[in-house]
Amino acid sequence: MATTARKPRTPKAKAAGHGQLIYTFREGNAGMRQLLGGKGAGLAEMTNAGLPVPPGFTITTEACNAYYAAGKELPDGLWDDIVSHMKQVEEEAGKGFGDPANPLLVSVRSGAAFSMPGMMDTVLNLGLNEETLQGLIDLTGNDRFAWDAWRRFIAMFGRIVLDVAGSEFDEPLEQLKADRGVKLDTDLSAEDLRGLAARYREIVQDHTGEAFPSDPYRQLELAVRAVFDSWFGKRAHDYREFNKIPHDLGTAVNVVTMVFGNMGTDSGTGVAFTRDPNTGEKTLFGEYLTNAQGEDVVAGIRTPAKISQMRDEMPEVYAQFEAIAERLERHYRDAQDLEFTIERGTLYMLQTRSAKRTAPAAVKIAVDMANEELLSREEAIQRVDPAQIVQLLLPRFDEAAKGQAQDRFLAKGLNASPGAATGRAVFDPDRAVAMKAAGDPVILVRIETSPDDVHGMLAARGVLTARGGATSHAAVVARSMGLPCVAGAETLRIDYRAQSMRAGEKVVSEGEMISIDGTTGEIYAGELPTIEARFEDEHDLATLLGWADEVRRLQVWANADYPRDAERARAFGAQGIGLCRTEHMFFEEDRLPTVQRMILASNQATDAKRRAALGAELSADDEEAVATFDTALAELERLQTDDFAGLFRAMDGLPVVIRLIDPPLHEFLPSYDELLEEVTRLRTLLGQPSHTDAVADTDAPALQRGLAKLFGEKDAARAMQLIQRPGRASVPEDDRSRMESELAEKEELLAAVAAMREQNPMLGLRGCRLGLMIPDIVKMQTRAILAGAARATAGGARALPEIMIPLVGHVNELAETRTILEAEVSRIVESSGQQVEYKFGTMIEVPRGALTADEIAQHAEFFSFGTNDLTQMTYGFSRDDAEGKFLLQYVDRKILPENPFQVLDATGVGQLMRMGVEKGRATRPGLKIGICGEHGGDPASIAFCHEVGLDYVSCSPFRVPVARLAAAQAAIASSE
Ligand code: ADP
Ligand code: MG
Ligand code: MG
Repeated sequence: MATTARKPRTPKAKAAGHGQLIYTFREGNAGMRQLLGGKGAGLAEMTNAGLPVPPGFTITTEACNAYYAAGKELPDGLWDDIVSHMKQVEEEAGKGFGDPANPLLVSVRSGAAFSMPGMMDTVLNLGLNEETLQGLIDLTGNDRFAWDAWRRFIAMFGRIVLDVAGSEFDEPLEQLKADRGVKLDTDLSAEDLRGLAARYREIVQDHTGEAFPSDPYRQLELAVRAVFDSWFGKRAHDYREFNKIPHDLGTAVNVVTMVFGNMGTDSGTGVAFTRDPNTGEKTLFGEYLTNAQGEDVVAGIRTPAKISQMRDEMPEVYAQFEAIAERLERHYRDAQDLEFTIERGTLYMLQTRSAKRTAPAAVKIAVDMANEELLSREEAIQRVDPAQIVQLLLPRFDEAAKGQAQDRFLAKGLNASPGAATGRAVFDPDRAVAMKAAGDPVILVRIETSPDDVHGMLAARGVLTARGGATSHAAVVARSMGLPCVAGAETLRIDYRAQSMRAGEKVVSEGEMISIDGTTGEIYAGELPTIEARFEDEHDLATLLGWADEVRRLQVWANADYPRDAERARAFGAQGIGLCRTEHMFFEEDRLPTVQRMILASNQATDAKRRAALGAELSADDEEAVATFDTALAELERLQTDDFAGLFRAMDGLPVVIRLIDPPLHEFLPSYDELLEEVTRLRTLLGQPSHTDAVADTDAPALQRGLAKLFGEKDAARAMQLIQRPGRASVPEDDRSRMESELAEKEELLAAVAAMREQNPMLGLRGCRLGLMIPDIVKMQTRAILAGAARATAGGARALPEIMIPLVGHVNELAETRTILEAEVSRIVESSGQQVEYKFGTMIEVPRGALTADEIAQHAEFFSFGTNDLTQMTYGFSRDDAEGKFLLQYVDRKILPENPFQVLDATGVGQLMRMGVEKGRATRPGLKIGICGEHGGDPASIAFCHEVGLDYVSCSPFRVPVARLAAAQAAIASSE
């Protein structure tokens, strides 16, 4: 096929300052994807590999951009260039474009660098008109074929280029089939098709007011323009926006000599993958249709046959195709997706591209190809997107069942946390807990979620919200729990009062089954069968991750608070626990009252103890506070000791980093607003003067507004009436005394909560600050950790506790905490007579901590970057406020490239990390440093951690396999 290189560039095009605007298939290659688009590059590569590709050429993406730059005018010289290339194609094909004696027909195909729905469809059979049609009939002696080509061309050109609705052409075709009493278009006669074509031309004339263009070059020009125009069509534009594909890439146009799959039963067209794109199995996978053209295979007009059937029907062609498929796969060193046509027994290749595949297929193909020595192991590692791995570990819906359940489809939201879940719809977190306790699987459905819903989420198999984005509370928490979540399904109308939701006509009430797919965002009524993933059964994944482990330098640890999570993390390959948040244990329902008693007494008790230590006499009230506090603390110590022992046992021989209490204490108490509301309600009902009375008369509108905020508009009016006429509230005597004692209790609690309330809790009394104010908590946790370790050791496990102090900004905070902690350790050692082993370290999550890491390292044996807080404080964003109010918009409007809470901000926050590493290790060479923020499971952030020299990343258990692969990819990338 080799011919001498031609000079395709017209002088005019050069003069206008364009690069070469057209490449023949022989001039291009696979590396020219940007310029020729994926399809053009593939056609060129196949041509040059000597595969049977019909002659043709590609108009470049630059030509498309020039067309736009010129206000939708073909750039200078382009048309002449197209014409001269058509002449070349005529020569190669031995036919003439518009020549009735031997007509050349072409297809016009769009093709951007990324395959993109919304781009123009392909026009086939371009170049037909009444004369060339007659030529085709004379030449082939097959008038049925010729009329078939002609009616297809008019319909396609009409729909795609001239914008006539496709249904205009479908209806007469269906009518004709009905009239003839046939099901398939292949059953229509030549005469039928001829009549249909005539009808089609009338339709075009009616809709456009012009005759169907008969000049082949005019047809070609219109088609090329239509491809260019489709680049900025709305669908294509929206698709690029959503997928963050730049708008200035442009699309190429491919002009390809037609070959005909509709010339009889020895002809056909098909689509095939070199490996099964669902399972990855090495077998030709695809479909074909005889006597058909173009998209008939996917259009569902006739049911296509499995590609394997071609082996029997056309053995020679099949063998040739099999060989080509194999060759292309070797050539591209990747599974390919192929399109082909057979014209009277001769095979033509029309497209090759890298095959899209499911996560299991991606892993299997990579491993198999390495075993076949088509790829090196390192290449295999790089072939799999770490994000895909999560999908392998989560339950998923059976695709076939999903296909059959389309009538039960309710809505589509954001795919916020992957995995499939089915359960009974529940609209209230308490109800979710109750139904779970009754043994029912539940899906928690909320308009949006807040920390008040977490217990309901814990009880649920999946979470569905109508509001909120990929970083909403629901999404973030669900991901951290490995819980499937669909967020922001805005078409759902959720009604808490009715305990139901509405999707169009369909209504789902509490207790009815629904199915949500957090991988795709789809929501169905009823139950869809799921396929459970079992890590131990994923042999190919195990192989791939095994290879990854040999390559990576970063260790992968996990964030886990419960033994159950730790076990899972370990099974996934975690090499330690990088973060155990002790306070999560406090949140458990049966423990919360104890925690609350401890907190409510903490200030008074701590103060009383200090005075007693100085010899002061304590009042009875003080004594009581101390007793309450100590009893609650002792109870928590007992519980935490159990927790820690379980964790150490699960992680036998591996380090476990336990962080001392971190959040502000009011998080464990009832909400201030709710208490205030309750107290106000009780006071009002009891007719007692409330602090609102003083303003009732003087500032009624302000009060009304305040009440509206508290109660909502409607109830506010009622409350206002009650406040203004308190005497009229009459309550029966029995109720009155009950309410009075309730009021007294609530008022006391309100006072306590009010005393702890902070304007900005994120920057308030939390982390090490809390431990320094209430040292007994630090001591209690230290005892529980060491006792837990001792118990695990006694049971034959090797416990390696690492105690981590949160939120240190000044070295003295750490030094002082260490003093408190070590004094307690000495006491334990003295009383038990046994030496205990532990490491003492800190989180680096306050910018000042990073800036003074050299000082801090004097007291820390390890660092762990808490990048959630570090990001908050570096940016000055409060995450909860930012993600709800403006951060998502920032990302949409490209003010920020990414949500910095998901992808580590390498330039800003990363600089602090780099500094922390350098300064820390300057003081203490070999200082062990990890990261335990959510970023520890994000592939891009992991690459950064590798680069700055961390020792490990710690992430949620489900992300451990992801991190293993990402860490290996980072190591490979940095060694290249
Ligand atoms: P898409 O981008 O949607 O895959 P293509 O440009 O690949 O569109 O065209 C779709 C189908 O049209 C091809 O798979 C092939 O069957 C048919 N087709 C395209 N060009 C030709 C041609 N020159 N001869 C025969 N069939 C063609
Ligand atoms: Mg195609
Ligand atoms: Mg923190």
